[in-house]
Amino acid sequence: MKVLHVVGARPNFMKAAPVMHALEGSAEQRLVHTGQHYDPAMSRVFFEELGMPRPDVALEVGAAPASVQTGRILLRLEPVLERERPDVCVVYGDVTSTVAAALAAAQHGVGVAHVEAGLRCGDRTMPEERNRVLTDHLAAWLFTHSPDADDNLASEGVSPARVHRVGNVMVDTLRRLLPRTDSGAALRRLGMDPAARYVLATLHRPATVDNAAMLREVLRVLAEVARRVPVIFPVHPRTRARLGARGWSASGVLLTAPLGYLDFLSLQRSAAVVVTDSGGVQEETTWLGVPCLTFRDSTERPITVTVGTNAVVGRDPGRLREALRAALSAAGRPPPRRPPLWDGRAAERIAAVLSGAGTVSPEGP
Ligand code: UDP
Repeated sequence: MKVLHVVGARPNFMKAAPVMHALEGSAEQRLVHTGQHYDPAMSRVFFEELGMPRPDVALEVGAAPASVQTGRILLRLEPVLERERPDVCVVYGDVTSTVAAALAAAQHGVGVAHVEAGLRCGDRTMPEERNRVLTDHLAAWLFTHSPDADDNLASEGVSPARVHRVGNVMVDTLRRLLPRTDSGAALRRLGMDPAARYVLATLHRPATVDNAAMLREVLRVLAEVARRVPVIFPVHPRTRARLGARGWSASGVLLTAPLGYLDFLSLQRSAAVVVTDSGGVQEETTWLGVPCLTFRDSTERPITVTVGTNAVVGRDPGRLREALRAALSAAGRPPPRRPPLWDGRAAERIAAVLSGAGTVSPEGP
């Protein structure tokens, strides 16, 4: 079996790494990097930390509007598909590269496998939601991580025979690398007290950061919090561009470059509270049992709320202020509750399905 994996942006790398690892020995593999994220802090660092092989093909689509990136991926992936003739093309998550590669592969007659299928927030104004829906309907194998994802696919008429609930590949990576995290060292590298209590923030969704008034208000709330508890905010390039364009800073908030996976995981692990609009971070905080406040009106990952530690506060800076106050004054923390199959073996199950080898049972208690 020959498998072509396509990655392009930060949240793809931690999902692809365990799948590639699990397929070692049973498939000939090729890795394509579209270049959607090309900044070393958003790409190269993850290849190094996650132990991923160098991409076999770099499409180098670069920074451009999503429709232009999509067009470039379609054009540049076609000869790769023609040359490599894979049996399966595996795509990850919900970024532009995901849907573009799925379309290119499907048009070429190559079966598409979608890792992290079935997630829906119901808001089609979000590019990620459109990418999710389109990719799922192009895919022959849909790998899901929660029962709600299976239900979403069933309600859209996707045949259950194509849907495989395998668990969460991000958790595979998290569990593998958790022993290498060191919160004290990560804090020291940022010039902070290694025993500090702190809030970790990450925001990059267009709905938050492209809205000038909203971004200003959120920074004001974080600056208020920073008078009591340090706030660390690794800034995504999109957010950086918006902040730079307006010359803003948030007094007392430590604005850093995007962090590598190990440092960011180290900081998530020991944070008092995480504020985010990231999808993956809602899942990682759930697994870690760290309180997470999601600055969005909805989530495509409701299991992080019903089982995990996530609260969707809405895109409302006033509610964020209140939620932060409550979270920072809460005493103690219950042990984490983790969704079924978020056990570190999701990629093994994907490999078993793709190679027709059957199922891998969940890890024992
Ligand atoms: N992440 C990271 N460094 C950072 C911020 C996030 O390594 O400075 C990791 C985070 O731990 C998670 C992934 O990036 O594994 C989430 O990616 P992102 O928030 O860009 O995308 P989303 O999950 O929203 O699609």
